[in-house]
Amino acid sequence: MRAITVLSGGMGGARFLQGLLHGIAAGSLPGVPADAEVTVVANTADDIWVHGLKVCPDLDTVMYTLGDGIDLERGWGRREETWSVRTELAAYGVEPTWFGLGDRDVATHLVRTQMLDAGYPLSAVTEALCRRWQPGVRLLPMTDDRVETHVAIADPDSPSGKRVVHFQEYWVRLRASVPAETVVVVGQDAATPGPGVLEAIGSADLVLVPPSNPVVSVGTILGVPGIREAVAGTPAPVIGLSPIVGGDHVRGMAAQMLAAIGVAVSAEAVGLHYGARSAGGVLDAWLVDERDAAALPALRAAGLRADAVPLLMHDPAATAAMIAAGLALVG
Ligand code: GDP
Ligand code: CA
Repeated sequence: MRAITVLSGGMGGARFLQGLLHGIAAGSLPGVPADAEVTVVANTADDIWVHGLKVCPDLDTVMYTLGDGIDLERGWGRREETWSVRTELAAYGVEPTWFGLGDRDVATHLVRTQMLDAGYPLSAVTEALCRRWQPGVRLLPMTDDRVETHVAIADPDSPSGKRVVHFQEYWVRLRASVPAETVVVVGQDAATPGPGVLEAIGSADLVLVPPSNPVVSVGTILGVPGIREAVAGTPAPVIGLSPIVGGDHVRGMAAQMLAAIGVAVSAEAVGLHYGARSAGGVLDAWLVDERDAAALPALRAAGLRADAVPLLMHDPAATAAMIAAGLALVG
């Protein structure tokens, strides 16, 4: 299995990729050679224009994490960051004040925005940024088109009783503290997969779905017309890992997002939501955490190869062990 393709969000995906690269280098993944090549199809529906700059949180989290530039404590943005730009913008009272752009990070967004303005597609810009960061994977935006996740929340002050906010406002400003009523992925229907995306899925030897957010990370990737079909039809085995452990997300807001699309917050429900390829879904195998082992009979009855193993990504070796367990299911 030389060609491995991963559908990734930000933090969960980046951590997963660290484990995958560790497993490849350590030779701890059965059937995966040391020269295996990893292609990452990354979610871009979190992207937002702020202060005239194009910010791509998930692409940057993967790039900075694998390129050893991430702030390890925050899990996003640059290490040894300073915040002068943010302070100065706040002194002007310029909105949005809730979206903190670090000074080092701003340089990335300036380069990206300048290249986009010059006519380069996001995929080419990402390739250029990765020349500096050398993430050790081929990093592909899911699409070069503008796609944005918006979230509808209750707002008693609005005539409709609702307000629609950008996903970043829901997550960063509101801390996902109010229920999400619906999730709308603006621009998705008209988007086309980015260059190389369908080929990376269709010609892979292995496709991995990390424990990324099933709605606003993996869900938005699969929602780009053509990508779900490519995953469903690839000759490669498709293995997924649950982001829900013991009835809740490990971190983030997957619980709120699953509620918004009417899927129960459980490893079983997320596995059934993705579904077995033999029954019209996208997965061959689904790993749940040991504490969710009671879900195995229902998952297997739905056509999935399933197992229960420790799913907390404490360190890259622990994550590699999960991937090895997934490979054992399809081997
Ligand atoms: P984001 O774009 O930064 O939100 O990151 P992702 O979408 O890639 O991943 C977020 C998801 O990762 C959340 O739903 C978490 O529950 C999940 N997650 C984070 N750490 C772990 C872990 O150690 N184990 C598992 N199974 N899931 C995790
Ligand atoms: Ca994200």
